[in-house]
Amino acid sequence: MTDALLPIAVIGAGPVGLAAAAQLIARGLEPLVLEAGPEIGQAVRAWGHVRMFSPWRYNTDAAARALLEAEGWTAPEAEAYPTGAELVARYLAPLAATQALRGRIRTGARVVGIARADHGRLHDGAGRDAAPFVLHVETCCGIQAVHARAVIDCSGTWGAPNPAGAHGLPAPGEARNADRIAYGIPDVLGAARETYAGATTLVVGAGHSAMNAVLDLVALAKEAPGTRILWAFRRPLGAVNFGGGARDGLAQRGALGAQAQALVESGAVTALAPFLIDRIARDGAALAVTGRQGERVTMLRAGRMIVAAGFRPDLSFLREVRLGLDPAVETTPALAPLIDPNLHSCGTVRPHGEAELRHPEAGFWIAGMKSYGRAPTFLLATGHEQVRSIAAALAGDWQAAREVQLELPETGVCSTDRTDATDRASAGCCAQVAAEVPAVASGCCAASGSSPAEVAPLVASGCCDSPSPVAAAAARKGCCG
Ligand SMILES: Cc1cc2nc3c(=O)[nH]c(=O)nc-3n(C[C@H](O)[C@H](O)[C@H](O)COP(=O)(O)OP(=O)(O)OC[C@H]3O[C@@H](n4cnc5c(N)ncnc54)[C@H](O)[C@@H]3O)c2cc1C
Repeated sequence: MTDALLPIAVIGAGPVGLAAAAQLIARGLEPLVLEAGPEIGQAVRAWGHVRMFSPWRYNTDAAARALLEAEGWTAPEAEAYPTGAELVARYLAPLAATQALRGRIRTGARVVGIARADHGRLHDGAGRDAAPFVLHVETCCGIQAVHARAVIDCSGTWGAPNPAGAHGLPAPGEARNADRIAYGIPDVLGAARETYAGATTLVVGAGHSAMNAVLDLVALAKEAPGTRILWAFRRPLGAVNFGGGARDGLAQRGALGAQAQALVESGAVTALAPFLIDRIARDGAALAVTGRQGERVTMLRAGRMIVAAGFRPDLSFLREVRLGLDPAVETTPALAPLIDPNLHSCGTVRPHGEAELRHPEAGFWIAGMKSYGRAPTFLLATGHEQVRSIAAALAGDWQAAREVQLELPETGVCSTDRTDATDRASAGCCAQVAAEVPAVASGCCAASGSSPAEVAPLVASGCCDSPSPVAAAAARKGCCG
């Protein structure tokens, strides 16, 4: 087969990978979608119980809709909010089953390596840019080599969650206690109900995933006595971005943040803010989690942890590809300043496409959730525009590739809001924030009391040998007494 006849490999059959395939077909190009899971939409299925905060009108791609409509598909109600499971059932699965796509998707096909044929990363050689790509694909029959003329990596970030540890590394003991730690959003009100009912759960993270997990746990607590929720944030509470509330262009997203904030303020959940996790150990059946609250070392006990601290891109199988990545965000340098949470907290992003997503390796792009690297604000509508632009470029339609158009709903909150909040929150350890953390031991060997092991999350301060619960009032003393 000559290079021109080789397919364009699309890694991942999630919403953006399938949209990429539809866009390529619309341009008369030949996609081959490689999906690691046994079924398409593997990552979305894992959070199938979660209701999306964007309505249907933002969640489908134009080229995908055209394929579906040609086969009699009825679009869901534009303003309704699907769950992840509904996104699969009503859109992704029918899309993958269309005549155009069904023969072009391989499931059970995990890409474990990509390179230019006969050119490792180091080797220039005259024909490097013209050489096809070779993808090593792990299947039930072993590793297979697949050749492609270009690659669009839409493999998402679901498989690479950030760890709980303070430094971006897994906390010592985190891996060892993995049987009591869930990453992402477990189905607390469904399949995982028995695990969390009546237990104390420490939720780590401040984004929408953490908010969803906390809301579900609070709903569970109403039905299952003894269910307690601790919520650990990296920042002081006043600096946590709960979103724009009623100002958010996506009403559900705004409501999610507002509800989460109300739960913290009402004391329905115990907020630990800031709380930077340094160690996770086992204390009988519970986890003993040691962390820092400013200068104070605190140890608390929880039966379970849910770590919803965001995701990072898995770059391991791109080792032989010449990537151009921003050192902090791990996205392309052109995209980084548009989405870097260190620079601004606006969820909206300027329209961008092939040009901003280009890497030094010609013919290779990362699109979809993974294209945002470590930034948390990706929306499907962004991904659809990305792959439309990339497909146009691959077809040689540079004008269409450049004319990126995207209207995203405003989040209603921007960096200026956040800066003010940070200033307020860092007013000292006796400010309002500290008073809202009622149930944590602090200081050095504060007075101890007794309380039931699972129910009392309180353990001890860093200088004591063994963890022991302490009374809430005593807990506040170390800093403000
Ligand atoms: C809980 C949750 C709720 C969200 N809600 C919204 C929302 O309301 N609105 C919105 O716009 N966005 C939302 N997002 C963000 C984003 O749109 C979704 O994460 C979306 O699924 C991203 O699509 P994707 O195709 O880029 O990646 P994914 O959906 O993650 O798909 C990637 C696919 O690649 C496969 N894969 C991974 N590695 C490999 C490999 N090495 N080889 C082959 N295949 C591989 C995976 O199995 C998966 O099927 C949400 C995200 C989460 C986690």
